[in-house]
Amino acid sequence: MSALPSPTPARPARPARSAIKALPDELVSQIAAGEVVERPASVVRELVDNALDAGASQIIVRLAAGGVRSIVVEDDGGGIAPAELALALQRHATSKIASLVDLESVATMGFRGEALAAIASVSEMALLSRTEGVTQGTRLDARTGELGPVARGVGTSVEVRELFFSTPARRKFLKTDATELAHCIEAVRRHALARPEVGFAVWHEGKLVEQWRPATGPDDRVRAVLGETFIDASVRIDAQAGPVTVRGLAGVPDAARARADQQYVYVNGRFVRDRLIAHGVRAAYEDVLHGQRQPVYVLFIDIDPKRVDVNVHPTKIEVRFRDGREVHQAVRHAIDAALALPRSASASGVATVSAGVHGGAPAAAWGGAPVRADQSPWATPLGRQQPLSLRDLSVLFVQEPRAAWGPSAAATTVADDGAASMVAQTVPPAQATSAADDAESQAAEAWPLGRALAQLAGVYVLAENRHGLVIVDMHAAHERIVYEQLKASLGGEAIASQPLLIPATFSATPTEIATAQAEAATLQALGIDVAPISPNTLAVRAQPAALIDADPAALARSVLAELQQPGGATRAVQRARDDLLATMACHGAVRANRRLTIEEMNALLRDMERTERSDQCNHGRPTWRQVSMKELDTLFLRGR
Ligand code: ADP
Ligand code: MG
Repeated sequence: MSALPSPTPARPARPARSAIKALPDELVSQIAAGEVVERPASVVRELVDNALDAGASQIIVRLAAGGVRSIVVEDDGGGIAPAELALALQRHATSKIASLVDLESVATMGFRGEALAAIASVSEMALLSRTEGVTQGTRLDARTGELGPVARGVGTSVEVRELFFSTPARRKFLKTDATELAHCIEAVRRHALARPEVGFAVWHEGKLVEQWRPATGPDDRVRAVLGETFIDASVRIDAQAGPVTVRGLAGVPDAARARADQQYVYVNGRFVRDRLIAHGVRAAYEDVLHGQRQPVYVLFIDIDPKRVDVNVHPTKIEVRFRDGREVHQAVRHAIDAALALPRSASASGVATVSAGVHGGAPAAAWGGAPVRADQSPWATPLGRQQPLSLRDLSVLFVQEPRAAWGPSAAATTVADDGAASMVAQTVPPAQATSAADDAESQAAEAWPLGRALAQLAGVYVLAENRHGLVIVDMHAAHERIVYEQLKASLGGEAIASQPLLIPATFSATPTEIATAQAEAATLQALGIDVAPISPNTLAVRAQPAALIDADPAALARSVLAELQQPGGATRAVQRARDDLLATMACHGAVRANRRLTIEEMNALLRDMERTERSDQCNHGRPTWRQVSMKELDTLFLRGR
């Protein structure tokens, strides 16, 4: 025992005990409002949800002072019967579900029956509604409970004034009117994208600030809401994997933004923010978008309602999937396949890719044949060739770079029949070039990237296609081609591993240790041998031969972290392999300042047309640009 005196520390005084009481109803609603109503935009979201659930075809949102002073949402939906108006304001009163079975397959936006009660508890609210077959409308004042007649058409208006007037502390958290207005508009925009058949209008202080008419064509609504440039710079997504359907538009890497402000994801028509889906999307862009750039996308994910729980968040912005992995994979593959398609194949992106899309029912707004890389006329045949061994790959690097895509290509060495026929199909024989200019220019018409004209500054290839001038960064383009060839030819082979002379040890978390043990086989495939040597230490005994100079602990840690992500194991293997190949590809690609013949340039263009992801180099930069005749004419002030 210690010799020192150890006085018992004085325990803090107990607080005065208060008796347990049930909270008054009003306060319960105000507490609930804390979760549901954060700002004016939350009110807009809930009221528009209700209007859509009521079958509205036209929804008008009128705001004053950014929605803080007043929010009015008018719809032409089914309305509320006078006798039910008061009920609509009660907590947990809803017309949308009646049983647990209903809850598990809910198809409406609302179902918790708490939005109107919550909003009414922190504002001055009135409900005005008229149902079919009734000659006049009824107005209910939420505060006084007073009912009175009102003249109006069939449908409902909800008026919300002086939000948070009774809870000044909440009101202090609001931003400027302009900011709150922007959030309100964003709330409507989210609905508008999902429901193209419904017309929306937003007024602020008596001025029309946004209007989206009912869409008639498939991309009308996206065009109206996000702009023509969004459409131009996107590829169509339309894929199904098991019970998961993924449709929509995903921006090409070039269209990525500094902020994540154009990322719309809907699950069964409901706007959601979901980490798993965001991660799946990110993974699909990984190979073409580097750094902090944020891709743009509008994705509609449809899945059997029984496989998703929408009742995990008060505002329903989060969902929980029964099988997160299947959703992650479906999203990732859908986008990956669409992005892999070289855009040169469809000079104006969506327009051509979506050929075969018909207008029509809103549910089919994203209709059209699924675009899969393997259906593309430009899809690379290399992807389906005999896998090569790593050793064979060295061939690519001992040859002159041109060999990889020159007419007498090493591609033949790489994989005989496929590559040979590919050369025959696509590289115009030299005789043909000189013999029949007409035939050649006709063929050039058909080539998306056109016919090579010249090389500029040893860096760019200039070509002519039916739109005008094409400029290609030859190193960047070739790097991608070599990279994709390497990826395709490597098949499922494991990465070569090299033992470390002295094993590297590092202190690890319980999760890292568990992952190292559970994923030992995956780590092996990655060329990494890492195993616990004590309850909190891991030892790296081998790592990929190609990365032998990397810090073993740092490498192992980042791979273990990767393996903990959804779909981590497959991704980690792929990524590690891709990183190695990218390094190799860079060495294999044609260097700047090498003179190319016209035939070599044409061969490069044809390879680009056939190679997946060839619009970006391995670092996410564009490999080619189109300068249209119109742009050239403008440069020279022609036609003015
Ligand atoms: P929930 O939408 O979860 O049912 P709310 O509090 O938002 O709960 O709405 C309560 C009920 O009021 C709804 O179930 C619906 O019957 C009715 N209601 C609300 N808004 C409208 C509207 N715009 N048109 C018709 N009925 C409405
Ligand atoms: Mg609701």
